[in-house]
Amino acid sequence: MQTERAYKYRFYPTPEQEILLARTFGCVRFVWNAVLRHRTDAFYERKEKVGYNDASAFLTQLKKQPDTAFLAEVSSVPLQQCLRHQQTAFKHFFAKRARYPRFKSKKQRQSATFASSAFVYRNGQVTLAKCKEPLNIRWSRELPSAPSTVTVSRDRAGRYFISCLCQVDTLSLGVVPKMVGIDLGLKDLFVTSDERRVNNPRHTARHARKLARAQRQLSRKKKGSNNRAKARRIVARRHAKIADARLDHLHKLTRQIVNENQVICAESLAVKNMVKNRSLSKAISDVGWGELVRQLEYKSAWAGRQFVQIGRWYPSSKRCHGCGFVLESLSLDVRTWDCPGCGTQGIDRDLNAARNILQAGTALLAGTER
Ligand SMILES: [Zn+2]
Repeated sequence: MQTERAYKYRFYPTPEQEILLARTFGCVRFVWNAVLRHRTDAFYERKEKVGYNDASAFLTQLKKQPDTAFLAEVSSVPLQQCLRHQQTAFKHFFAKRARYPRFKSKKQRQSATFASSAFVYRNGQVTLAKCKEPLNIRWSRELPSAPSTVTVSRDRAGRYFISCLCQVDTLSLGVVPKMVGIDLGLKDLFVTSDERRVNNPRHTARHARKLARAQRQLSRKKKGSNNRAKARRIVARRHAKIADARLDHLHKLTRQIVNENQVICAESLAVKNMVKNRSLSKAISDVGWGELVRQLEYKSAWAGRQFVQIGRWYPSSKRCHGCGFVLESLSLDVRTWDCPGCGTQGIDRDLNAARNILQAGTALLAGTER
C-alpha cells in the first residue's frame, strides 16, 4: 500500500532567496486576505457562496490591475495553492468542522506551497521557481522519493522550514500480541491499561520563567521600534523551543506505543468542547492531546496496527472495570475507585478508565458493542 507522508527540514536561505520568499509570503497573504474579503462581502451582502472557479477568476482580475500587478512578480503556483487551501478551509467551515477562516497577519507563521510545476528536485536538491540556486537544506534524513509538493515556511522565530510531501510504501511491522487502552489525562499525560503512567512534562511550566522574562522585555519596548521587533523574535523563539520539545516527547511516546501494541484504543477527542472551559483550556493545549491522537492514528496506519477511538458517550471513568457498575457522577478530584457494586476499593481512577477503554475498543473491533 502507498501513502503520502510529509518530511520536514530546516533550511537556510541566501539573502536573495530570503527576499524572494518574503515577497512570495507577502503575495500569498495578500491573495488570501483579498479573496477572503471578497468571499465575506459576497456572503454577508448578497448571501452568495464564492466557489473555487470564481475565486480563481477574481485572482486573475487582481493580477491585471495596475496597483496589484506586483502579484505577477512571484511564482503563480503558491497563489493558486493558497486559493485551494482557502477552499478547503471554507469546506470545513460549512461542514461545521472549523471556525470561519481568518485573515492572515504579517506577524504569524508564513508559508507558501509549491506544486511540482513550481520547483525542481534534482540530485537530492530542491530549487524553487524563480530561484537560481537550490535551497540549503539540512537533510536530517533521506527523502524516500521525489516530492510531489513542497511547502516553505518561516515561523515566528524567523526560522525557515521546508516540508516535502512524498509517496511512500507503508511498511507493516510484525504482528505483536499486545493490546492497550489509553486514558488521556491532565495530571498525567496518559495512563495505559498495562499500568504505564506517563507524566505530563509541562514544558511550558518549566520554561515559563524565561518566557515570562522575554515577554516582560517585549512589553517595555516602544511600539514600532527595531528593538521591539527583536524582542518579539526572542519571545517567538522561546515559544518555538517549547513546541519543539513537546513534539519530540510525543513522537518518542507514540513510536513506542505503536511498536509494542497491535491494537491501540483511546477516547475520541472533543477537545473543541473541552476548550470552552477556560480553566482547563491552557492545560489541554499544553499537553497536546490532539497531536498525540493524530500521531497514534497515522503511525498505526503506517505500521499496520489498529487504532480504535471510543465515542465520548462511553462512561470510561464512571464505570467499574471489574463489575460494570456505573456511577451517576464522579468529580475530577476523586483519584481512586471505590465500587459500590462489587466492593473493590482503591483502584486508580485513570487505570480503571484505561482498562474500560481497552475493553470497549476490542468490543468495537469484534463488532459486539456492549
Ligand atoms: Zn465494581
